[in-house]
Amino acid sequence: MAGVRLPIRTHPLQAFVTNHYTRSFRPIVASADMGFYVSQTPRGEMLLGSGIDSQPSYSYRSSYEFLSHCSLPAVTLLPFLRNLTILRQWAGVCDMSVDMSPIMGYTGVDGFLVTTGWGTWGFKGIPAGGEQMAELIAGDRTPELIAPFSLNRFQEDRLMFDPGSTATTH
Ligand SMILES: Cc1cc2nc3c(=O)[nH]c(=O)nc-3n(C[C@H](O)[C@H](O)[C@H](O)COP(=O)(O)OP(=O)(O)OC[C@H]3O[C@@H](n4cnc5c(N)ncnc54)[C@H](O)[C@@H]3O)c2cc1C
Repeated sequence: MAGVRLPIRTHPLQAFVTNHYTRSFRPIVASADMGFYVSQTPRGEMLLGSGIDSQPSYSYRSSYEFLSHCSLPAVTLLPFLRNLTILRQWAGVCDMSVDMSPIMGYTGVDGFLVTTGWGTWGFKGIPAGGEQMAELIAGDRTPELIAPFSLNRFQEDRLMFDPGSTATTH
Protein backbone atom coordinates (compact mmCIF):
# COMPACT_ATOMS: atom_id res chain seq x y z
CA MET A 1 0.00 0.00 0.00
CA ALA A 2 2.96 2.32 0.60
CA GLY A 3 4.35 1.46 -2.84
CA VAL A 4 7.60 0.04 -1.42
CA ARG A 5 8.90 -3.14 -3.02
CA LEU A 6 10.93 -5.36 -0.72
CA PRO A 7 13.28 -8.11 -1.99
CA ILE A 8 11.75 -10.61 0.40
CA ARG A 9 10.43 -14.14 -0.03
CA THR A 10 8.50 -15.97 2.64
CA HIS A 11 9.48 -19.57 3.37
CA PRO A 12 8.06 -22.01 5.95
CA LEU A 13 10.39 -23.25 8.67
CA GLN A 14 9.50 -26.35 10.66
CA ALA A 15 10.54 -27.84 13.98
CA PHE A 16 9.49 -30.65 16.32
CA VAL A 17 9.94 -31.85 19.90
CA THR A 18 10.22 -35.32 21.37
CA ASN A 19 9.01 -36.60 24.70
CA HIS A 20 11.07 -35.96 27.82
CA TYR A 21 14.66 -37.23 27.67
CA THR A 22 15.56 -38.24 31.19
CA ARG A 23 19.22 -37.29 31.00
CA SER A 24 20.43 -33.76 30.64
CA PHE A 25 21.80 -32.73 27.24
CA ARG A 26 23.60 -29.41 27.60
CA PRO A 27 25.00 -28.51 24.16
CA ILE A 28 23.17 -27.14 21.14
CA VAL A 29 24.29 -29.31 18.26
CA ALA A 30 23.95 -27.81 14.80
CA SER A 31 25.38 -29.22 11.61
CA ALA A 32 25.27 -27.15 8.45
CA ASP A 33 26.53 -30.16 6.48
CA MET A 34 23.90 -32.53 7.81
CA GLY A 35 21.27 -29.79 7.83
CA PHE A 36 19.76 -30.03 11.29
CA TYR A 37 20.04 -28.69 14.83
CA VAL A 38 19.06 -30.16 18.18
CA SER A 39 18.90 -28.89 21.76
CA GLN A 40 17.06 -29.76 24.95
CA THR A 41 14.25 -27.53 26.20
CA PRO A 42 13.98 -26.59 29.90
CA ARG A 43 11.17 -29.21 30.10
CA GLY A 44 13.54 -31.93 28.95
CA GLU A 45 12.09 -32.36 25.46
CA MET A 46 14.57 -32.61 22.59
CA LEU A 47 13.92 -29.83 20.06
CA LEU A 48 14.92 -30.48 16.47
CA GLY A 49 14.80 -28.42 13.33
CA SER A 50 16.33 -27.97 9.94
CA GLY A 51 16.61 -25.30 7.22
CA ILE A 52 13.73 -23.52 5.51
CA ASP A 53 11.42 -25.32 3.08
CA SER A 54 12.86 -24.54 -0.35
CA GLN A 55 9.46 -23.62 -1.84
CA PRO A 56 8.34 -20.07 -0.88
CA SER A 57 4.89 -20.18 0.72
CA TYR A 58 2.75 -18.76 3.52
CA SER A 59 1.75 -22.26 4.61
CA TYR A 60 1.77 -23.15 8.30
CA ARG A 61 1.33 -26.83 7.50
CA SER A 62 4.03 -29.16 8.79
CA SER A 63 5.00 -32.14 6.70
CA TYR A 64 6.07 -35.77 6.97
CA GLU A 65 8.84 -35.05 4.43
CA PHE A 66 10.41 -32.60 6.87
CA LEU A 67 10.18 -35.11 9.75
CA SER A 68 11.95 -37.87 7.84
CA HIS A 69 14.47 -35.48 6.27
CA CYS A 70 15.44 -34.05 9.68
CA SER A 71 15.25 -37.28 11.72
CA LEU A 72 17.64 -39.32 9.60
CA PRO A 73 20.76 -37.17 10.11
CA ALA A 74 19.75 -36.55 13.74
CA VAL A 75 19.59 -40.23 14.73
CA THR A 76 22.73 -40.92 12.71
CA LEU A 77 24.71 -38.38 14.72
CA LEU A 78 22.92 -38.89 18.06
CA PRO A 79 21.63 -42.49 18.17
CA PHE A 80 19.92 -42.03 21.57
CA LEU A 81 17.27 -39.95 19.77
CA ARG A 82 15.83 -43.03 18.10
CA ASN A 83 14.45 -44.22 21.45
CA LEU A 84 12.37 -41.05 21.88
CA THR A 85 8.89 -40.33 20.54
CA ILE A 86 7.95 -37.29 18.49
CA LEU A 87 5.35 -35.34 20.44
CA ARG A 88 4.62 -32.17 18.46
CA GLN A 89 5.61 -30.69 15.15
CA TRP A 90 4.88 -27.21 13.84
CA ALA A 91 5.67 -24.71 11.09
CA GLY A 92 6.05 -20.94 11.00
CA VAL A 93 7.02 -18.57 8.23
CA CYS A 94 10.27 -16.66 7.82
CA ASP A 95 10.77 -13.59 5.65
CA MET A 96 14.06 -14.08 3.79
CA SER A 97 15.80 -11.28 1.93
CA VAL A 98 17.67 -12.18 -1.24
CA ASP A 99 21.06 -11.80 0.47
CA MET A 100 19.83 -13.45 3.71
CA SER A 101 20.61 -10.38 5.79
CA PRO A 102 17.96 -8.19 7.44
CA ILE A 103 16.75 -4.90 5.97
CA MET A 104 16.57 -2.01 8.41
CA GLY A 105 15.89 1.69 8.13
CA TYR A 106 14.31 4.23 5.79
CA THR A 107 12.25 3.19 2.78
CA GLY A 108 12.08 6.44 0.84
CA VAL A 109 8.47 6.97 1.96
CA ASP A 110 8.25 9.73 4.54
CA GLY A 111 7.70 8.32 8.05
CA PHE A 112 7.73 4.68 6.90
CA LEU A 113 10.64 2.58 8.16
CA VAL A 114 11.18 -1.18 8.01
CA THR A 115 12.95 -3.86 9.97
CA THR A 116 12.41 -7.15 8.17
CA GLY A 117 14.12 -10.04 6.42
CA TRP A 118 15.25 -11.53 9.72
CA GLY A 119 14.93 -15.00 8.25
CA THR A 120 15.57 -17.87 10.62
CA TRP A 121 17.52 -15.89 13.23
CA GLY A 122 15.26 -13.00 14.23
CA PHE A 123 15.02 -14.02 17.90
CA LYS A 124 18.72 -13.73 18.48
CA GLY A 125 19.26 -10.75 16.18
CA ILE A 126 16.41 -8.51 17.21
CA PRO A 127 17.61 -7.32 20.65
CA ALA A 128 20.49 -5.51 18.91
CA GLY A 129 18.41 -4.69 15.82
CA GLY A 130 15.54 -3.28 17.89
CA GLU A 131 17.82 -1.04 19.94
CA GLN A 132 19.43 0.32 16.81
CA MET A 133 16.06 0.97 15.16
CA ALA A 134 14.89 2.82 18.30
CA GLU A 135 18.01 4.96 18.11
CA LEU A 136 17.35 5.70 14.44
CA ILE A 137 13.74 6.71 15.12
CA ALA A 138 14.59 8.83 18.17
CA GLY A 139 17.54 10.60 16.51
CA ASP A 140 16.34 10.56 12.86
CA ARG A 141 19.82 9.34 11.90
CA THR A 142 20.93 5.84 10.89
CA PRO A 143 23.38 4.39 13.46
CA GLU A 144 26.65 3.20 11.96
CA LEU A 145 26.08 -0.42 13.02
CA ILE A 146 22.97 -0.86 10.88
CA ALA A 147 23.84 1.49 8.01
CA PRO A 148 25.03 -1.45 5.80
CA PHE A 149 21.58 -3.07 6.19
CA SER A 150 19.66 -0.30 4.43
CA LEU A 151 17.09 -1.09 1.73
CA ASN A 152 19.02 0.86 -0.91
CA ARG A 153 21.90 -1.67 -0.80
CA PHE A 154 19.95 -3.67 -3.40
CA GLN A 155 19.85 -0.71 -5.81
CA GLU A 156 23.50 0.06 -5.12
CA ASP A 157 24.58 -3.55 -5.67
CA ARG A 158 26.22 -4.01 -2.28
CA LEU A 159 24.65 -7.25 -1.15
CA MET A 160 25.67 -8.75 2.17
CA PHE A 161 25.63 -12.46 1.49
CA ASP A 162 26.07 -14.35 4.72
CA PRO A 163 24.41 -17.75 4.48
CA GLY A 164 26.20 -18.76 7.73
CA SER A 165 24.03 -16.30 9.60
CA THR A 166 20.91 -18.22 8.68
CA ALA A 167 21.64 -21.10 11.05
CA THR A 168 18.70 -21.54 13.39
CA THR A 169 20.23 -21.59 16.84
CA HIS A 170 19.59 -19.60 19.99
C1 LIG B 1 9.93 -22.94 13.59
C2 LIG B 1 10.78 -21.71 13.74
C3 LIG B 1 11.90 -21.74 14.55
C4 LIG B 1 12.67 -20.59 14.71
N1 LIG B 1 13.76 -20.67 15.52
C5 LIG B 1 14.53 -19.58 15.71
C6 LIG B 1 15.64 -19.65 16.58
O1 LIG B 1 15.94 -20.69 17.19
N2 LIG B 1 16.42 -18.54 16.73
C7 LIG B 1 16.13 -17.37 16.06
O2 LIG B 1 16.87 -16.40 16.26
N3 LIG B 1 15.07 -17.27 15.24
C8 LIG B 1 14.25 -18.36 15.03
N4 LIG B 1 13.19 -18.30 14.17
C9 LIG B 1 13.02 -17.07 13.34
C10 LIG B 1 12.22 -15.99 14.01
O3 LIG B 1 10.96 -16.50 14.38
C11 LIG B 1 12.03 -14.83 12.99
O4 LIG B 1 13.28 -14.41 12.48
C12 LIG B 1 11.36 -13.65 13.66
O5 LIG B 1 10.09 -14.05 14.16
C13 LIG B 1 11.18 -12.50 12.66
O6 LIG B 1 10.50 -11.46 13.31
P1 LIG B 1 9.71 -10.38 12.50
O7 LIG B 1 9.02 -9.52 13.50
O8 LIG B 1 10.64 -9.71 11.51
O9 LIG B 1 8.66 -11.19 11.60
P2 LIG B 1 7.43 -12.08 12.08
O10 LIG B 1 7.66 -12.66 13.44
O11 LIG B 1 7.15 -13.00 10.91
O12 LIG B 1 6.27 -11.01 12.22
C14 LIG B 1 5.66 -10.41 11.09
C15 LIG B 1 4.24 -10.03 11.52
O13 LIG B 1 3.64 -9.26 10.47
C16 LIG B 1 2.30 -9.70 10.32
N5 LIG B 1 1.89 -9.36 8.95
C17 LIG B 1 2.27 -9.95 7.78
N6 LIG B 1 1.69 -9.33 6.74
C18 LIG B 1 0.93 -8.34 7.26
C19 LIG B 1 0.08 -7.35 6.68
N7 LIG B 1 -0.07 -7.25 5.35
N8 LIG B 1 -0.54 -6.50 7.52
C20 LIG B 1 -0.36 -6.57 8.85
N9 LIG B 1 0.42 -7.50 9.46
C21 LIG B 1 1.06 -8.36 8.67
C22 LIG B 1 2.37 -11.21 10.56
O14 LIG B 1 1.10 -11.72 10.92
C23 LIG B 1 3.36 -11.27 11.74
O15 LIG B 1 2.72 -11.14 12.99
C24 LIG B 1 12.36 -19.40 14.01
C25 LIG B 1 11.22 -19.37 13.19
C26 LIG B 1 10.45 -20.50 13.05
C27 LIG B 1 9.24 -20.44 12.16
